Amino acid sequence: MTRRKIVAGNWKMNGSVESVVELVESIQANDAVDVVVAPSYVYLPLVAQSLTGSKVMVAAQNVSEFAKGAFTGEVSLSMLKDFSVSHVILGHSERRSLFAESDAQVARKVASTLEAGLTPILCVGETLEQREAGTTLTVCNAQVDAVLEEIGIELFEKVVIAYEPVWAIGTGKSASSEQAQEVHKGIRDNIARRSSKVAEKVAILYGGSVKASNSAELFAQADIDGALIGGASLDATEFNSIIESAK
Ligand code: PEP
Repeated sequence: MTRRKIVAGNWKMNGSVESVVELVESIQANDAVDVVVAPSYVYLPLVAQSLTGSKVMVAAQNVSEFAKGAFTGEVSLSMLKDFSVSHVILGHSERRSLFAESDAQVARKVASTLEAGLTPILCVGETLEQREAGTTLTVCNAQVDAVLEEIGIELFEKVVIAYEPVWAIGTGKSASSEQAQEVHKGIRDNIARRSSKVAEKVAILYGGSVKASNSAELFAQADIDGALIGGASLDATEFNSIIESAK
């Protein structure tokens, strides 16, 4: 089965009014690839407006697990929907490690995101210590399983997974295409133990120091269905080349 490639840019806590408009206006989408950008919450309305008529989609970098109420500093799914947000990045390793998000909390957020009709981009990945201990797949599959237990296998086909080895994020040290493929296949095989139909459909993106110079090789792997990109997504030329290489 051919899965459509997805190229998503996570801008993290970067940008200004001027730079996000310039960046978003420079993105060259094409019909063959789904392109998603994830600005900081405060720039979502501006980016969504700048993308009127464009095929580029907008993601949030996180969302509250609660619907509304006394949750100072949080943003709800219905607020995201007000600004045409279509995707939500969940369980990014920075959220897990710096903001103590647990597997269970991430799973609840995935469930509410699906319920709201948005697409969750569920990030999973191992630390360097875990890789060296040989537990990469155990860790990634446990993160996936927490979500599977919360939402069930049928709904899981609507989830996009991003395999992001923690040691490769923002370090310039990407996993090799073979290393990434091995984990992507291991994640897909784990899903296939519950449903091979769902496993075939689920898009699994790779993230971790993806650049224009390594994207084509990564995208050529059988189980790599695109990329979640941090640093290189802030550079329009790099990001456009990555999109082009996903065709
Ligand atoms: C990320 O933060 O999701 C990421 C993959 O970052 P980078 O591309 O900078 O490694």
